[in-house]
Amino acid sequence: MNWEPWTGCKPYSEGCKNCYFYGPLAKRFGQNEITKTDKFYLPVRKNAKGEYIVKGGGILATCFATDFFLPEADDWRKDAWAMIKERQDLDFLILTKRIDRFEVSLPEDWGEGYENVNIGCTVENQEAADYRLPLFLSFPIKRRFIACAPLLEEIDLSAYLQAVEHVTVGGETGRDARLCDYEWVLKIREQCLKAGATFWFKNTGSLFKMDGVIQKVNPYKQASMAKELGIDKLDGKKLF
Ligand code: SF4
Repeated sequence: MNWEPWTGCKPYSEGCKNCYFYGPLAKRFGQNEITKTDKFYLPVRKNAKGEYIVKGGGILATCFATDFFLPEADDWRKDAWAMIKERQDLDFLILTKRIDRFEVSLPEDWGEGYENVNIGCTVENQEAADYRLPLFLSFPIKRRFIACAPLLEEIDLSAYLQAVEHVTVGGETGRDARLCDYEWVLKIREQCLKAGATFWFKNTGSLFKMDGVIQKVNPYKQASMAKELGIDKLDGKKLF
């Protein structure tokens, strides 16, 4: 299940270039203005019987159409953290490109991190990896994963995988999508196997190169095509 406490975003790095959530397509798919949504209190909303609407035991993935650590959300994030703390029976999955803002608005009782928070640092190229991942590893976070999406070039993650549970890789989607080369995907997989991290090839992207051939892949087939390649190593893990 997804929880979008706020929506709207602004481009931040190379991986944002073709994001649907700002720019010419913003009106259709999202917006440049960052606003709270009517789902803000979803994790703690209750029904007439006083029970949480979102049942415990599952995963609540957040901020796919925005970024949890946007400066515009600094005040709202305090309430978001309080809800996350209240719902210890849910796992919260937070994906971000702005890991350098992790410590802003962090709750006072954060300590070494909440057990039910799994933070995913997104890196699209080596430059982003070399800037964001040392910071990511330096912060008190109990559970970490890396998302190489959209994967824009070969990335060596080896130096950063020691305290990371999992890596997800995906190509870029859309009309102007940049190439995703299967060789790059396989190399990251090798790094994960060596480090003992689980690995998920989520989608091929719209422009996928394999065995020297570049092909355009229909958006509805990108996930199934990645799965059919049979390279995932999830050890029973369910992330989304
Ligand atoms: S941070 Fe994510 S949601 Fe925001 S513009 Fe970049 S890709 Fe889009």
